[in-house]
Amino acid sequence: MSAQSAELINGDVSFWVRDAGWPTPRAPLPGPIDVDVAIVGGGMTGLWTAYYLKQEQPDWEIAIIEREFCGFGASGRNGGWMSAEPAGPFRRYAADRGRDAALAMQQEMFGAVRESVDVARREGFGDSVDETGLIHVATSRAGLARAYHHVEEMKQQGWGEDDVHTLTASELNQRVNVNRGMGGYSTPHCARVHPAKYTFGLAAAVERLGVRIYEQTTATALKPHTVVTDRGEVSARVVVRALEGYTASLPGERRTLLPMNSSLVITEPLTDQQLATIGWGGAELLGDTAHSFSYLQLTADHRIAIGGRGKPYDFGSNFDRRGRTAEFGVDLIRERLTQLFPSLQGIGLEQTWTGVLGVPRDWSAAVNYDAGTGLASAGGYVGHGLSGTNLAGRTLRDLILGRDTKLARLPWTGRKARRWEFEPLRWIGATGLYAAYRWADQREDRSESSETSAVAKIADRIAGR
Ligand SMILES: Cc1cc2nc3c(=O)[nH]c(=O)nc-3n(C[C@H](O)[C@H](O)[C@H](O)COP(=O)(O)OP(=O)(O)OC[C@H]3O[C@@H](n4cnc5c(N)ncnc54)[C@H](O)[C@@H]3O)c2cc1C
Repeated sequence: MSAQSAELINGDVSFWVRDAGWPTPRAPLPGPIDVDVAIVGGGMTGLWTAYYLKQEQPDWEIAIIEREFCGFGASGRNGGWMSAEPAGPFRRYAADRGRDAALAMQQEMFGAVRESVDVARREGFGDSVDETGLIHVATSRAGLARAYHHVEEMKQQGWGEDDVHTLTASELNQRVNVNRGMGGYSTPHCARVHPAKYTFGLAAAVERLGVRIYEQTTATALKPHTVVTDRGEVSARVVVRALEGYTASLPGERRTLLPMNSSLVITEPLTDQQLATIGWGGAELLGDTAHSFSYLQLTADHRIAIGGRGKPYDFGSNFDRRGRTAEFGVDLIRERLTQLFPSLQGIGLEQTWTGVLGVPRDWSAAVNYDAGTGLASAGGYVGHGLSGTNLAGRTLRDLILGRDTKLARLPWTGRKARRWEFEPLRWIGATGLYAAYRWADQREDRSESSETSAVAKIADRIAGR
């Protein structure tokens, strides 16, 4: 019986966590403690920061405070694209700090993919990552024009001839047989990640270094040199906020990062015949060029995980912690899967889940440290957090150690985006923009024009993207 007719598991964190084996949570904070660095959030931002700081300062006491278990958040739920695409628009970093600074950021993102893969291999969780590359596919003329234009822009933003290639329709179809695939572009700078195995592996590596990880412990307030939790206070010289999409749940932070939903669906394993029909032999990560962007992964055990469409935002910056996906979201994602691969019509879906990522008002990630208050933070990667968190961890290390390095001078340091609007404006804005993008996609899919829809252009301007 196909899993479509069996019960679709909805929520329950993610397929990745179930597949990696549900973890037994580590012990909670035993009571008040005093440490050098307290990191709040056991996702990849918190883990990488601990990993790099502890190596430089083995004598420092470093504690991670995690509400559930490491990998419960976006780090254990994502699409598994570890890509070199920057966690913020080049033009914005260039406008703020100059073109050279934005170019440096791009080079560091290439390095972050390499470093994230190398560490996984060195630390014994290399089986969670594969360097398969990435393909962006256009299924409309307007999408193709955008793809080619984007490659021209990338070449001016530090991507060399070997870093990115345009694809014609026939070049694309030799690599993956996408319905209405008109071409696109590809880059080798992307690794396929099993998010839960990766994050669990990183947490174990951090613990081996001597970092203390307290799970099942909720931070209720972050103050200079203090983390208030439901299990006692943590006094620390440095307090790192590494909560990304969960930042809004702290007092006073509701409008700092918008908790944007992203939902995925994963299929049952494809048969050899289904695989042969779609011809995706290189297992590259796959994305489209639609405005309501979809991202796909062909997993090592031949399932397709596809995400991107659905309910973008819950009123009041709320979200469902276990990650249930609204039924219409599942329908939209299923529809997109069979638009791209009609031969998979009727394939069984095994699980769906939703996670939150943190979106700053200017859509640009930021890494900050104030030596006076000891307060540090990193996040707002807008869907590019897998390699972004690695770079953020190394950047925070340098900032906290007071080092004047090239990382400490990257254009995402010392940034402060303005706060999001009050409700109901946030909800109206987020849902209205996504409705506009869906409408624009439908128009472009039916049109022979290479022009991007005017509605999408206006939506981009309003969103500030
Ligand atoms: C569905 C989805 C798909 C994505 N796909 C991709 C992708 O393919 N490629 C990519 O590069 N990026 C992707 N992203 C983004 C990427 O996953 C994130 O940017 C990245 O994982 C952020 O890591 P983090 O450690 O900052 O946050 P998180 O991983 O969210 O970690 C925050 C942690 O804080 C904990 N926490 C929350 N509140 C408290 C509290 N009060 N006290 C203590 N702990 C608390 C949470 O339990 C959580 O473990 C995706 C995100 C989502 C949601």
